[in-house]
Amino acid sequence: MMHAIASIEALLAQGVGDVQEWMFLTLVQPLLWHLHWMVLDDMAYDNLPWVIYGALQVLLVYAVLRPLEWLLPLERWDDRRGLGVDVFYTLINRLGLIPLAWFFALQPGFDHILEWMRMHGWVSVNLDSLGPWLRARPLAGFLLYLVVLDFAGYWYHRLQHQVGWWWELHAVHHSQRKLSLWADDRNHLLDDLLQAMFFSALALFIGVPPAQFVALSLVGGALQSVQHANMRLDFGWLGERLLVGPRFHRLHHAVGYGHELGHGNRARLYGCNFGVLFPWWDMLFGSADYATALQPTGVRAQLPRPQGADEDYGAGFWSQQWLGLRRMARRLAGA
Ligand SMILES: [Zn+2]
Ligand SMILES: [Zn+2]
Repeated sequence: MMHAIASIEALLAQGVGDVQEWMFLTLVQPLLWHLHWMVLDDMAYDNLPWVIYGALQVLLVYAVLRPLEWLLPLERWDDRRGLGVDVFYTLINRLGLIPLAWFFALQPGFDHILEWMRMHGWVSVNLDSLGPWLRARPLAGFLLYLVVLDFAGYWYHRLQHQVGWWWELHAVHHSQRKLSLWADDRNHLLDDLLQAMFFSALALFIGVPPAQFVALSLVGGALQSVQHANMRLDFGWLGERLLVGPRFHRLHHAVGYGHELGHGNRARLYGCNFGVLFPWWDMLFGSADYATALQPTGVRAQLPRPQGADEDYGAGFWSQQWLGLRRMARRLAGA
């Protein structure tokens, strides 16, 4: 098994290396030359694999999920209007443009913080130091990082719902009423920035090797595309408790249910099913809901009056971003 994984990895690395070489010589270098940006030469070359792995992931996700959405649709729509903007969000995120931009914007700050930590005798909690057992088993290390980051992701997501101004940014994600395989990356850019800062800092702190961080992002992203897909796919009783599936996450997006003050034992929660990849934390901290039937998705304020407030969350990228900022400012001003 491990041997097979190693040979697939080697084959993939070789293929990506070839594409990297080709893309750099035929596309990237001439473009940089043309723009007089040759100083970015090395950096562009080193980061091309991000873009290539991202493109492979998007193609794979599309090839698997689109036929399933077509064969087993959960909701039938009159048209697919409003999905194009989600494709745009997906491409700028998964092809590495946004992550790279944040990475380069944040890198100097991080170096500063790490230097400060070293000077004050702070040592990062490197999970690899757990022992030689883990070092000899890279797959176990990978899974351990996945679980630790996911645990942080659960609480991070709960705060996005709990803190008023933050919810107004996260509402960009929830405002898509036609959930599809493209919906995962529809987020406010400021929310993306906060998320990139938090998770890169945490990954650095627990010592995730950079290559594994890329792999973790790719696996996590693919699973989150599955969760948003418009398909009648049930992982079964056990499967739904091991991994967040489309049913579990769709309820998180339900109008007036997935993100508002709950009833009964969920009275103090702003919603249910916050888990990113694993539903374990929801089960552990009392926010899981497996019982409620599926219902339409979106934000209550989008609904026509009297159920909602007829509020416009924007149809295009810039209006969604602008309206998100305006809602946030209103909340911060106490309106
Ligand atoms: Zn949410
Ligand atoms: Zn979602």
